[in-house]
Amino acid sequence: MKQCYFCQHEVDVIDYKNTEILQKFTDNTHKIKPRKRTGLCASHQRKLAKSIKRARQLALIPYQENVRI
Ligand SMILES: [Zn+2]
Repeated sequence: MKQCYFCQHEVDVIDYKNTEILQKFTDNTHKIKPRKRTGLCASHQRKLAKSIKRARQLALIPYQENVRI
């Protein structure tokens, strides 16, 4: 079942303050997951990226970490 999470939940505006949701769609280095992995529609993927960037600017969620070996 690959359906857009936000369409399914009838979410129009993705709240940048809802970090719990945003972090569902970032990987363990805090990168935004690509659409292939999020399963989102194009419009929600765009909104998601915007909200994540906004949340980062406000330091609600971390920026991408450098990978340390
Ligand atoms: Zn959608």
